This record gives sequence, structure tokens and C-alpha cells, in this order.
Amino acid sequence: MVSSNKIVKGVQVDPYTRCRHYHSDIDIIAIKFYCCKEYYACYYCHKEKADHREEKWPQKLWNERAILCGNCDKELTIHEYLELSQCPQCLHRFNEKCSIHYPLYFDI
Ligand SMILES: [Zn+2]
Ligand SMILES: [Zn+2]
Ligand SMILES: [Zn+2]
Repeated sequence: MVSSNKIVKGVQVDPYTRCRHYHSDIDIIAIKFYCCKEYYACYYCHKEKADHREEKWPQKLWNERAILCGNCDKELTIHEYLELSQCPQCLHRFNEKCSIHYPLYFDI
């Protein structure tokens, strides 16, 4: 499979953007953080690696492409991502349990 040519930061990030914290088959997305506009594999990766506090995406900016599918490299907007349970390009399933964590990334 294609490995990501976007730089995704984090702890033990693999080519599918899985990390030490989330590494099941469906944990394939990376998230761009509003604070630094850099991709991290997950919230905890940002906590461990970034030198600043995370900031959430304000709702008016949810048309920004801030979600990266680690399987095919497609970037989704936050709006798109919140309505999908799989990648529109490669059809890889996303982890639905991620929705518990939306408030960590997006100003819901
Ligand atoms: Zn940041
Ligand atoms: Zn992580
Ligand atoms: Zn994909």
C-alpha cells in the first residue's frame, strides 16, 4: 500500500499513521491540529511530542482539510469526516469509537 507522503508526527507512527496509542486495523487516520497545523497520529501523540497545548478547530473552519486517511493519503475536511464511517476514496473503515474523542479535536 501507499505510504503517506505527508509528515505525520507522533510516537511510533507507522506508514498507516497508526501510533503507540491507537494501532488497531481501523485506526488509520491522522489529524491536523489547529494550533500548529501539523498532522499528528492522535491526541496523545500531540500531548507527548508537541511543546504547546492543543487547540480545537472552531466550527467555522470545519471546511479545512484536517483529516488524513493513512491508507490512501486522501485528505478530508472535518465536515466530511464527521459524516463518514469510511474513507470515500479507498473505502477503508474508520474507527467509530473515535467519535468519543471528537471534542478533543473539534469545538463541538
Ligand atoms: Zn499543536
Ligand atoms: Zn498516538
Ligand atoms: Zn483512504
